[in-house]
Amino acid sequence: MTHRTRFAPSPTGHLHIGGARTALFSWLYARKHGGTFILRIEDTDLERSTVESVNAILEGMTWLGLEYDEGPFYQTHRFDRYGEVMEQLLEQGHAYRCYCTKEELDELRAGQMERKEKPRYDGRCRHRTEPRPGVSPVIRFRNAAEGEVAWDDLVRGRIAFRNSELDDLIIARSDGTPTYNFTVVVDDLDMKVSHVIRGDDHVNNTPRQINILKALGAELPHYGHVPMILGADGARLSKRHGAVSVMQYRDEGYLPEALLNYLVRLGWSYGDQEIFSIDEMIEYFEATDINHSASTFNPDKLLWLNHHYLMHSDPAHVAHHLRWHLGRLDIDPTDGPDPVEVVLAQRERSKTLVEMAQSSRFFYMDFDDYDPKSAQKNLTASSVPVLEELRRRLAGVETWEKEPLHAVLVFTAEDLGLKLGQVAQPLRVAVAGTAVSPPMDVTLYLLGQLRTLSRIDRALQHIQAKKD
Ligand code: GLU
Repeated sequence: MTHRTRFAPSPTGHLHIGGARTALFSWLYARKHGGTFILRIEDTDLERSTVESVNAILEGMTWLGLEYDEGPFYQTHRFDRYGEVMEQLLEQGHAYRCYCTKEELDELRAGQMERKEKPRYDGRCRHRTEPRPGVSPVIRFRNAAEGEVAWDDLVRGRIAFRNSELDDLIIARSDGTPTYNFTVVVDDLDMKVSHVIRGDDHVNNTPRQINILKALGAELPHYGHVPMILGADGARLSKRHGAVSVMQYRDEGYLPEALLNYLVRLGWSYGDQEIFSIDEMIEYFEATDINHSASTFNPDKLLWLNHHYLMHSDPAHVAHHLRWHLGRLDIDPTDGPDPVEVVLAQRERSKTLVEMAQSSRFFYMDFDDYDPKSAQKNLTASSVPVLEELRRRLAGVETWEKEPLHAVLVFTAEDLGLKLGQVAQPLRVAVAGTAVSPPMDVTLYLLGQLRTLSRIDRALQHIQAKKD
């Protein structure tokens, strides 16, 4: 069996967390089975679909590394094909033109409500043979009146609907444009999709789509409906709960592999394993292991995973992402230490790349001001002789490496009869502007000799200016 899955977003906003997880599950399923992953842009809602949203989806998928093998296919490019299949259904009697006016339908609905019946179209145009002058008809699918439609859902097991619950769905509007359930069917058929993995907000559409597929004599795909994602308060995940767009996570300093790892565990598990490489995800993923119930989004866990990946991913890889974040802070990453070394120095104390970039800024450019508390405590008259002595010795260092730098600190402390911290802290505030930085030898090494000396000079001037 060939495995063909698809991700079919409607481009009406960003690629959000829920969509990305659906895409990931579909992608994993295809990769696991050596199959094909298709991207289809469902842009028939011309009022809500935008080019920017399409781009946001492409950007999000590319950033996550969810590469598609076929597509992107745009539904707006396929109207001729939808028209062709529509004709076929009309000719074969599986669809019919409905001339009911809005007033008639409102009246029908009001009557049903009054009798406490479920509002549904009663099929009154099913047998109409003559058009009604002056009315542009819609086209409805002739749904079977009896029997049931059922499928074995990959996630939720057997799901069945009675045909009597499904009325004759409108598949083309009066302006001739096809509706969602119809375009999906034609696309899944033409694109030979074998496994439809999508959000469970589509469960009610599936029996309708199956009936149309059957009318077309098509083989049915397998369906898997993934439960939704909730915020900590139990409500459906939304902007209220923080970032929901994938690209916002990039902007906030997450690595794509951390987000992927987080998403794969959101509603799917493999024993109690938490950390999954992409290869492991592909190897272990089974759609049948997706949870039946909704999952709760936990930002702390995502942060924990991000820190894990900052610590354990190849530093050269992390540095690629760090360069971008440095650039966002107007830092030229070539005007200072190699970002790979910065990653090694900063990763332990950084939970995000934004934190890492912010706390590394001083390596690349002068800070505007000292952190007031740190300066008050460490840049005082009594630190002047310490800083002067350090400056003299550091100016004489010939090989700017961690070991000789460490030796300068140790010997200066010894010779001045001070503790190492009493020497290191004023120096740290002088060069970094705050009392927090990587170990002093690493900090100096990354900063370089010229910058170190000029920052000490600046600190000495700062102390002098305070005195005056
Ligand atoms: N375009 C639909 C959506 O964004 C998905 C349709 C499908 O997966 O069948 O919700």
